[in-house]
Amino acid sequence: MGRKTCVYCGKEITKRSREHVIQNALGGLYESEDICCPECNNYISSCIDAPFTKIFNPIIGNIDDFSKTNNTKSTPAYSGIVSYKDKLYHANIKNGKVVSCPDLSREQRCDISKIPVQIISYDFNINNNDFKTGIAKIAFNYALDKGIDFDILKGGLDIKKTGPNIQAITFNYPIIPFYPLNPIDSFIELKTNFNLYHTMILFSQHNTLWCYIDLFNTFQYYVLLSESMPAGTHVYENYAQTLQKINRKEPTLDIFSPKDIMIYAQQYGVEPCMDLSEFSRRIKNAIAKKSQKQDLQSIISSKMSAMPLEYRLNIMQDTQKLIAFGQSMHLYFDENDCLIPENFRTLTISEDGTKLLSYPYAINTQISHDIKPLKKYTMDKFERLTLSLCQKSR
Ligand SMILES: [Zn+2]
Repeated sequence: MGRKTCVYCGKEITKRSREHVIQNALGGLYESEDICCPECNNYISSCIDAPFTKIFNPIIGNIDDFSKTNNTKSTPAYSGIVSYKDKLYHANIKNGKVVSCPDLSREQRCDISKIPVQIISYDFNINNNDFKTGIAKIAFNYALDKGIDFDILKGGLDIKKTGPNIQAITFNYPIIPFYPLNPIDSFIELKTNFNLYHTMILFSQHNTLWCYIDLFNTFQYYVLLSESMPAGTHVYENYAQTLQKINRKEPTLDIFSPKDIMIYAQQYGVEPCMDLSEFSRRIKNAIAKKSQKQDLQSIISSKMSAMPLEYRLNIMQDTQKLIAFGQSMHLYFDENDCLIPENFRTLTISEDGTKLLSYPYAINTQISHDIKPLKKYTMDKFERLTLSLCQKSR
């Protein structure tokens, strides 16, 4: 069932197309049908997606078996900081290798390839409008794909037209950065192994509609999509995927007749075709894609099962911590230790463990009093990301 008219310009959509909700350049696999017309789609990809995805180039250039499906051969260049003999230099990097470092080359009077430098960190420019717009666009697309009425979402959308032609599209939804307000979330984000994944959680709370977005397990934000949710409506959806292709063994296909092809096509959800090598390629792709789609429950549960005894013991020594810990456990997990997804990242517990709070609003209140914990958390997450990327490129 496709949308009949473009959400941006209102023209009838005559040519059907699929769009990636999280940009394909970022390895996003979730596709949605027909959000807009081809012309508006062009505007979005060149004016919103391109500057946004560029911010993540250092990550993309460093992931093995990255899940991007289009233009798989193009590898982006990016910048960062390198060290040589205890001095730091700004450098341009590609494929985890330093391609130019003007200051150091000048000092040493030689080609950078002859100098053994070490990559220390990468540049991520997240304090600009391109970043906020890109995050908001993901939230907007996910909500539309999940059937949220356009009228509920249009408050944050600003479309400038001259006549029937689009001049500019801007997304002005308020954005709140995430940081953990309870001991379970602190543990999950900072004490478990770092893995790369994207998640999206769309949820309503009273008259508000939020989308929590986590890109690369590092860039975590709440987007306030609406404050005019009709009374009595309840929305909850989540999506999670890993970012590395998983090499799965190909199934042996016993094909003796066209009927067998039809059976396999249905089983793996691919288009049937008579060319057997092409057909098995399609099945292989379908399996790879499916293996990357994960559910939020299994990601979080596996992180929780890694909680060391000493972490628990440490918490037990502090009564206040223990109460908050117990209450958060009770909020997030059922009696079988299974995650209750509807509560995860949507609600949290007040510091004294007595009140249930809306997570985004609680963060908003905290950061208006003191921004330091958020800053510290953001730095810690970046450090974990950079460490994992720099280790790989060494
Ligand atoms: Zn359009």
